Amino acid sequence: MRTKVLVVGGGPAGSTAARFLTAEGLDTILVERNPFFVKPCGGGLPSTVFDELGIPKEAIKKEIKKIRIVSPRGAVLDIGLKGGCIAIVKRGEFDSILRKEAQNTGARLIQGEFISLEEKNGQIIAKVNIDGNEEYIKTDYLIAADGVNSRVRLSLGVKHVSFLYTISAMMAMDIDSCEFWFGSAHAPNSYSWLFPAAEGVSSGTAGSPAQTLKSSLKSFFDRRGLDSNPPTRIYRIPLWDGELYNKSNIFFAGDSAGHVMPLTYEGIYHAMKAGEFAARAIISGKPSDYKKLWKKRFHTRFFVMKKLCDYFLRDDSSAEKMISLYKRPEIQEVSMKLWLEKSSGGRHLISFMNLFKRILS
Ligand SMILES: Cc1cc2nc3c(=O)[nH]c(=O)nc-3n(C[C@H](O)[C@H](O)[C@H](O)COP(=O)(O)OP(=O)(O)OC[C@H]3O[C@@H](n4cnc5c(N)ncnc54)[C@H](O)[C@@H]3O)c2cc1C
Repeated sequence: MRTKVLVVGGGPAGSTAARFLTAEGLDTILVERNPFFVKPCGGGLPSTVFDELGIPKEAIKKEIKKIRIVSPRGAVLDIGLKGGCIAIVKRGEFDSILRKEAQNTGARLIQGEFISLEEKNGQIIAKVNIDGNEEYIKTDYLIAADGVNSRVRLSLGVKHVSFLYTISAMMAMDIDSCEFWFGSAHAPNSYSWLFPAAEGVSSGTAGSPAQTLKSSLKSFFDRRGLDSNPPTRIYRIPLWDGELYNKSNIFFAGDSAGHVMPLTYEGIYHAMKAGEFAARAIISGKPSDYKKLWKKRFHTRFFVMKKLCDYFLRDDSSAEKMISLYKRPEIQEVSMKLWLEKSSGGRHLISFMNLFKRILS
């Protein structure tokens, strides 16, 4: 097979890249290993990004207008969201909708597993397992959107993205806010969560090493007063280091490049934007544009959030301090604007940085 662009992975990053490429008439193959895969995920994203990214709103299963933050010592902070809300999607279905959108603009969707690649005379030749047969796809460009365990990274010998482990479970219960629980006893350097889901509630916690996660989740459930022992899934969440964009005509987008916002661990939107930016760079015929587009839009945000994450999540007393800062209305307002109004340029980021600089100095 021959194509202009081969996109490996039909999650949010890959499907978005394929949609943007084909909308501009570029021949694109989108290879997805398992169309029935359901990514472990809270499925929460700002409602405001549906218009920005052209995501069909039928994907929204619930709209949550309140978040609850609980400090290590148990201080509770309820924040009502204004100007938008948290849209909850059902991940398997959401990913299918995004792939369908890519197909509608002309992407050729193939169920197959990327195995390896080689580069010959300026061409990329990818080996893909399709229906048990080894097939070869020749392509000018390749987008690695194959997630945190990226096989494309492996096949190129690119250092693996660093990560945090998560454990998550679905619970048969009902809540009306997204809850973020801080405390080193159950979420060292991170947080535990309960998010309303399409059916029931998605729960989980994060930390390392993986062996400690089951007991961390049990500690969280005990603290939250949940007497439950649901089936769990362990999955990695990548940690952003700002290093990887493209290696000549091979692009890394989404979890494969660690495009998850530090502190909040918001990955769906950033994966989709990375897919869009990679597509734009290919469309313009200038691979180096990818890094430029990404840096211009996200680098400072990610850098600031990483600094705040390292500072506030290093221990319980720092997390306590962060939550007491979030009681201040001006911090809530600027943080919510920064989070909900993503396409508003840099002005909310500048207000956010100035406020934290003033408070922390
Ligand atoms: C427990 C948990 C909760 C989370 N909650 C949220 C949340 O509420 N909101 C949020 O914004 N983010 C959340 N995230 C992060 C979010 O899920 C990811 O950042 C996002 O899915 C990244 O999208 P992606 O397209 O880069 O990768 P993925 O969604 O992982 O998609 C990769 C795709 O590639 C396919 N693939 C893999 N290998 C191959 C191969 N060799 N050949 C062909 N196809 C392949 C996979 O089947 C998959 O479909 C959460 C993450 C975790 C672990």
